[in-house]
Amino acid sequence: MSDQTPVGDAQPKPSPRYVPADSLQSPRFTGIPTFARLPNVRTTEDVDLAIIGVPFDTGVSFRAGGRFGPNAIRAASVLIRGHNPVLEVHPFRVLSCVDYGDVAIVPGYIERSYEIIEREVTPVVNAGVIPLLLGGDHSVTLPHLRATRSVGPVAVIDFDSHTDAWDSFFGEKYNHGTWMRRAIEEGLVDVDHSIEVGLRGSVYGPDDWPVLKRELGLEYIPTHEVLTQSPDVTIEAIRRRVGGRPTFISFDIDVVDPAFAPGTGTPEAGGLSSFQALQLIRGLRGIDFVGFDVVEVIPSYDSGEVTAILAANLAFEMISLSALRRLEGGTRTPARIVSTEQA
Ligand code: MN
Ligand code: MN
Repeated sequence: MSDQTPVGDAQPKPSPRYVPADSLQSPRFTGIPTFARLPNVRTTEDVDLAIIGVPFDTGVSFRAGGRFGPNAIRAASVLIRGHNPVLEVHPFRVLSCVDYGDVAIVPGYIERSYEIIEREVTPVVNAGVIPLLLGGDHSVTLPHLRATRSVGPVAVIDFDSHTDAWDSFFGEKYNHGTWMRRAIEEGLVDVDHSIEVGLRGSVYGPDDWPVLKRELGLEYIPTHEVLTQSPDVTIEAIRRRVGGRPTFISFDIDVVDPAFAPGTGTPEAGGLSSFQALQLIRGLRGIDFVGFDVVEVIPSYDSGEVTAILAANLAFEMISLSALRRLEGGTRTPARIVSTEQA
């Protein structure tokens, strides 16, 4: 399908190999839920984007239960229809997408799970397929970034109410509050083009946020700025920061207000609405995305599935961005991987 990449506004005929089940043939509430009713196929052949569940929650510091996040998001996602009327794209007519299933992590063992996650996701990235991980707690982003080595270091846009840049928790180096610092130390992050968006909450001291810039070189925009300036200002700041670099979105659902996303592990009052979160993602069209994750959804603290529904829709917007990039003629990983392998 890549040899017939459409250009401009023309929407292609349905040609992707893997597409969602037809809801006019089988009602949306029937069958075993996969993301957006995509086929559950563990392959990278003829695939452009793979949804991968990472049911791991051993990295948390407060509430546990994110291991049930991927399937809650899948169940909530069956109502996703194909066309995105805001971005004006039908991503499943542009990209061949699959639900790749879950990574078989080892509950209770973070470093062994990291190895397994990296081992499972690396071939996906190396095949030129965009991985979209459903967490799981935020610690899973570190092995996800390790899996992007062939296309990195990547510009990271981290939507989160927390910095996740601690050096350690209780003497331990790997958990959901340290992944960003570890990823920078490991050379996985293009720091000069990365940004954290939505920081808030009480913190331990006045240095907690400035240390990002001073010590790590990371840009950040706190929630109180996001919510008192026009969304265009925030979007423009993110776009300027990222430039034309290969980019990775990590979306911690706790950046959204607990009134809209109560099902999460470390809730902070006074955050984005669901609409504002979707609006920020939609503003990022045209960027060269090489990976996404949506993390920290805990269904046992959810109410009326609102958190899972939002997570599913954020993922749909990310898929839509990838489809638009393809339609607009952006090329990505194949060229870069070839050059990496030749280097
Ligand atoms: Mn986080
Ligand atoms: Mn967080």
